[in-house]
Amino acid sequence: MPLTLSERTLSISPSVTLAVDARAKQLRAEGLDVIGFSAGEPDFCTPEYINDAGKFAIDAGITRYTPVAGTLDLRQKICDKFIHDNGVEYTPAEVIVSSGAKQSLFTALSAIINPGDEVLVPSPCWLSYPEMIRMAGGTPVLVHGREENNFVVTAEMMRPFVTEHTKALIINSPNNPNGCVWSRDELKAIADLAVECGFYVISDEIYEKLIYDDEKHYCMSSFGPEIKKQCIVINGVSKTYAMTGWRIGYAAGPKNIIKAMTSFQSHASSNANSIAQYAAATALSCGDKYILSMIDEYNARRRLMYRLVNEIDGLSCKLPKGAFYIMASLKEILGRSYKGKKITGSTSFAETLLDEKRVAVVPALAFGDDNYVRLSYATSRQNIVEGMARIKEFVSEMED
Ligand code: PMP
Ligand code: GLU
Repeated sequence: MPLTLSERTLSISPSVTLAVDARAKQLRAEGLDVIGFSAGEPDFCTPEYINDAGKFAIDAGITRYTPVAGTLDLRQKICDKFIHDNGVEYTPAEVIVSSGAKQSLFTALSAIINPGDEVLVPSPCWLSYPEMIRMAGGTPVLVHGREENNFVVTAEMMRPFVTEHTKALIINSPNNPNGCVWSRDELKAIADLAVECGFYVISDEIYEKLIYDDEKHYCMSSFGPEIKKQCIVINGVSKTYAMTGWRIGYAAGPKNIIKAMTSFQSHASSNANSIAQYAAATALSCGDKYILSMIDEYNARRRLMYRLVNEIDGLSCKLPKGAFYIMASLKEILGRSYKGKKITGSTSFAETLLDEKRVAVVPALAFGDDNYVRLSYATSRQNIVEGMARIKEFVSEMED
């Protein structure tokens, strides 16, 4: 038998967001002054009360296996959060805790997808969705949004893509990579379409709390008992509580799906880290009071970056409503050259920018649209001002 790799893994591309971020970190470690607008990772430290809980857990010996689906305490706190924030009732048997929302998503897809099943995804979308769908044996069906509509893909835009093979739809509001937020009516229409046509909705609500101005978040399963029966809500503590490295995410959904996900996880990885689970339970039990100042700061950065992008002749962007990303349009400048190198798309823009000006951005080709780059404003205002000044210089030095 030839010692080959599996076709499944060979068909998977590595995460571009993580790769760009790793390259930026490596250049920084080599002593270069790199400004990172790449990874969607809060630059804040995890709040002290959460760190203290983690230290307490180690000293108290909370260092053993927990139930595969997570400690009862954490699952109860997650249920309390759903009632308090979203007005939706779940019991601990309807919740599973995983090593990050990423694992919850993959496990959810693995629990419901059969070969040949199609999964609808509004696009541009977080780059891991199509890969995860394929890893689970399904086929991603991307439905493209338009910038003039703030990239919101409505139920009516999705309807023509529904087939007898449509098994699920993944919705991510507030959205990575473009910061759009679906309104209550737009979400409800998607819930109605799912109920009418009979497919699951995986609602990735990881950026729930990162929402600005008068925008409001609505949990997909809050639209009534029918959609709740076919909805899996994904969330986690990475973004809200600046806990990316602790790796705690969770899913809530019908008992049979959570049971199947628990069986899957019992063989794939067992429980999420026990210390991190304890810290996450503490994070969730203290409400929003510790995170409000972080949200205010993201909001100020959002406005700053939006203004600075639009001040660059040749670039433009919409004001995002949530998350911590801006999609900057390159449409006006594609085809120009920088020092003889033709900028043909988002990848050559991002690569040349990093090489020449030491600013890391993510080519939106990875999210499904080569006309944009994604900039994360989860970094200091000082970095935003400096990084945007470098981008301005870079664009002004391009030739037709
Ligand atoms: N969903 C979206 C849309 C994301 O951007 C991320 C970022 N990592 C995740 C899920 C996963 O988060 P984590 O695994 O850190 O909980
Ligand atoms: N989700 C974040 C991002 O889009 C973190 C990196 C990743 O997991 O893809 O940048």
